Amino acid sequence: MQPESKLTGGAYHSHIGHNGDGVAAIRREMQYLNTIGKRFVAAVDRFQVHRALLAALQELYSFAACSILLRGDPVELSIIPRHPLSEAFLAAIIKKIVRAADVMDFPQVTAEELALTAYLDAPDEFAHLHSTGQLADIEVGDSINIPLTVENRIIGILSLFDEHPGTFDAEQLHMTTMIADYAAVALENVRLRENETALWRQAENERRRLELIIGSMAEGLFITDAEGAITQLNASAQQLFAQAQVELKQGIPLRKLALSKDAGWLHDLASIVEQALVGKVMMHEELIAGVSGEAVPLTLSVSVAPLHDASISLTRPIGAVAVLNDVTSSKQIEKLKDEFVSVVSHELRTPLTAIKGYTQHLLRRIERRLREARRTQPLDGSPAIEPPESYDLRSLNIVQSQAGHLERLVNDLLDQSRVQWGQLRLDYSTFYLADVLSERVYLAQTSADQHTISLDVQVPDSKIVADRLRIGQVVGNILDNAVKYSPQGGQVKVQLQEFEGDYLVSVIDQGIGVNPEYLDHIFERFYRVRNITNRQYSGIGLGLYVTKAIIESHGGRIWYTSNQGIGSTFHFTLPLAPKHP
Ligand code: ADP
Repeated sequence: MQPESKLTGGAYHSHIGHNGDGVAAIRREMQYLNTIGKRFVAAVDRFQVHRALLAALQELYSFAACSILLRGDPVELSIIPRHPLSEAFLAAIIKKIVRAADVMDFPQVTAEELALTAYLDAPDEFAHLHSTGQLADIEVGDSINIPLTVENRIIGILSLFDEHPGTFDAEQLHMTTMIADYAAVALENVRLRENETALWRQAENERRRLELIIGSMAEGLFITDAEGAITQLNASAQQLFAQAQVELKQGIPLRKLALSKDAGWLHDLASIVEQALVGKVMMHEELIAGVSGEAVPLTLSVSVAPLHDASISLTRPIGAVAVLNDVTSSKQIEKLKDEFVSVVSHELRTPLTAIKGYTQHLLRRIERRLREARRTQPLDGSPAIEPPESYDLRSLNIVQSQAGHLERLVNDLLDQSRVQWGQLRLDYSTFYLADVLSERVYLAQTSADQHTISLDVQVPDSKIVADRLRIGQVVGNILDNAVKYSPQGGQVKVQLQEFEGDYLVSVIDQGIGVNPEYLDHIFERFYRVRNITNRQYSGIGLGLYVTKAIIESHGGRIWYTSNQGIGSTFHFTLPLAPKHP
């Protein structure tokens, strides 16, 4: 195919021409720039930019091909031919592009690399001609390179090639540079748009992936807005709310929803969410969401965290995100376990009562016999013979003390199951707290000969309305521990004071103390400090759990302080007047 003549080929030449009317020529030039400018502005992808470029350039010259080398990692090369090109011509223009890149300080690139990655943006009809091998190996006769600049940044190189020498005369250079500027802006816009689209697509894919993950989570998940209204929830959460017979309505805060329903647990859930909305993280809160009357009602465990806007994390949360778990089956297992422990403890009590009763009976008989034996001892001054009953007496005392220990264990087991299921009943009466303390101090002292247990009552009148037996149990538990966990003996001091309108009882020992790392747990069910120092002490970790429950159901508080590393102090308060008699 023969190239068009540069003088006859372009519309620009025919529009602008060489006639003398300068104003008209400028107007036509403006019109021309306006037309090609519009084409570049309308281009939405790089191929449309190529088409616009080709259309603009062929108005100026008749040429074989142009190319665009764009900065990037890696650089991108597009070759736009005006007619089919031979392999040799293509190889020659790539060599020229590499040289131009070198001159314009482009990142180093080899002709081989470019040849491999170059994109030939040729109309489809060229492919046919190419394959039939009709092309002659023609040399590059003329070429020019113009930098593509946007805001003083060189984003690429526009190069024009022709087989004939002298195609690109200096006269058109000004206009070619203007076209290159248009093309540069258009290419930059396309690049920005492509980046934006890629980012959007990536974000959209991420969003879909997240939606899929959340949707297929076994845990229920819901998100609320800053008012505590559920805005989004997954299928598992929907199912859990349906199970709890709650119909959710979009945009209604949980608190409002709770008011309209007869479901106490929704109020609890609303309170937990409200905590998260002021910035607190709430972990594993249990909610009884089941219908009353069931053996083990539907029980949910909920963890809620505040949701912060990533950009303004210091301000108030914009909502909350909650994870719901159905823990009913583990509650059922727990209940079965508790029932088992409770039944076994009950069953143990009957033989224990018999053992205690008969031991008591035997003890009395032996004591009587011993008294008689002593009375009948010969008075002739010969040494007293120890009667065989004294040995029986010691043995029986051990049986009695061990039976008492077993009874306390069984009672603790029964009590923990009562506490667990909210069945701890208090039997209120009026008595003097100091009396109970003194009885318990006396009892503890009888079985602790290495310790000195003292009582310091600092209130003139310690009248109280409470459950006498239970308060005795509390003091007994703390005193037993004070003795048990101070194996070297020492002082144990019990103090009774008045403190901020409550009675304050403190039990101070000089024993092994509690390492601060375990402090948060010592009042938990079945919790025992498991370190070398504690291993030698027997126990099942229920005493403090039951003690705390008894104190709290009286409206009091219990806590621990360490005695500067030597021993422990347990404090508890009891209201002067009962809160819920
Ligand atoms: P138990 O004594 O059966 O282990 P408790 O519930 O009474 O269970 O006590 C829980 C844990 O608290 C104990 O295992 C022990 O480590 C610690 N503890 C309780 N009282 C004292 C004390 N006076 N001094 C040191 N440690 C104590």
